[in-house]
Amino acid sequence: MFNLVIFGAPGSGKGTQSEFIIKEYGLFHISTGEVLRDHIARGTELGKIADSFISKGQLIPDELMIDILCDVLDSNPAAADGVIFDGFPRTIHQAKALKEVLEKRGTQLNAVIGLEVEDEELIDRLIKRGKESGRSDDNLETIQQRLKVYHSQTSPLRDYYIEEGKYLSIKGSGSVTEIFETIKAAIAHSQR
Ligand code: AMP
Repeated sequence: MFNLVIFGAPGSGKGTQSEFIIKEYGLFHISTGEVLRDHIARGTELGKIADSFISKGQLIPDELMIDILCDVLDSNPAAADGVIFDGFPRTIHQAKALKEVLEKRGTQLNAVIGLEVEDEELIDRLIKRGKESGRSDDNLETIQQRLKVYHSQTSPLRDYYIEEGKYLSIKGSGSVTEIFETIKAAIAHSQR
């Protein structure tokens, strides 16, 4: 069994690369952002709470987010065969919770794929995406807030996973297929 985290700033290509990774390794995809957007679209209570954070570019509180993740794992038997976590963890607290949750299930994280992209390029990409995605958080003001949150709360995870010996640093600019080839090579190397 194989569990991966795909990690990086908003706009670093986590969703795009996840699609390639799912096909290559047959993993179950959990994008916490997508789970939340689905709740918003269905107008659930959770969706209302999530929207109040997402539209401001803020993170959903840790305990709520961890409960949501556990629900997704519990309600999808396919997740037991290996998962790619996309957009989770986003704080050190979430990373520690993920470790515990996986340990309880008799498994662990194999590697963290860290997509590294300069802020300027991230902003360009997210503004472009906003024109097509219709996402409430892909506008300049919210993008800047999301990057701020990323640098203060999420990027410390890079050092956390380097310490754990799980971090695979990947240059996240260039063509999507080139980036995927780099990811595959890094995963193969890490499993030796
Ligand atoms: P994403 O689609 O991963 O860019 O996530 C969109 C938004 O959903 C984020 O800006 C957060 O507001 C929220 N979100 C997604 N995943 C998490 C998480 N692991 N912890 C807290 N908030 C999250």
